[in-house]
Amino acid sequence: MYMRYCCAILKEGGGEGCAVITGVRRDESRKRAAYMPVQRRRRTKSGAETKDLDQMEAANFECVSGKDKFMIYPILDWTEADVWAFLAERNLPRNPCYDNGHRVGCMFCPFASKKQKDYYTNRYPKFHTTLIAHLQRYLDKQDPSRRNFTTAEEYFAWWKSKENINTYRAKKRQLNINFDEMKSSKKGDML
Ligand code: SF4
Repeated sequence: MYMRYCCAILKEGGGEGCAVITGVRRDESRKRAAYMPVQRRRRTKSGAETKDLDQMEAANFECVSGKDKFMIYPILDWTEADVWAFLAERNLPRNPCYDNGHRVGCMFCPFASKKQKDYYTNRYPKFHTTLIAHLQRYLDKQDPSRRNFTTAEEYFAWWKSKENINTYRAKKRQLNINFDEMKSSKKGDML
């Protein structure tokens, strides 16, 4: 499951009536490259509407009524190297999660690399155990004849690998064929 179903709920909600200061940078993505240093964002029925300050009219300033939030991006034009240099110059600690990749999102973010997911698996074993238990419950509700995975561990290993499900199925089928061939050739040896 690689859909970005969660950002709107976990990260983008809230902050109405406030100024929200975040460390996003233009060089992180094409979408962020188009950001302005200060923007107004308002949740509408059809989604979030974002306007740059210079597109706004005085009448639109409704922050005081709690409908808008002002997004402020103070390091929008910094590069990744600027960030590390800033921390090094001031001897500030770095988030250890960056040792596993240049991107840090939520734990087990679908967009994290396998290395990052492995890091969280080892670093937070209780969280991992809970996740596996939930996955197993989910699997147990499925019709066994239609399941791609036998166990939650197998399911989780596939999810961490980011492999396409059809490629995974094809590999699994091939493994089963090889295994069956091995079994029947062993039987033949014993006759
Ligand atoms: S960082 Fe990843 S898990 Fe967190 S909200 Fe964004 S897409 Fe979802």
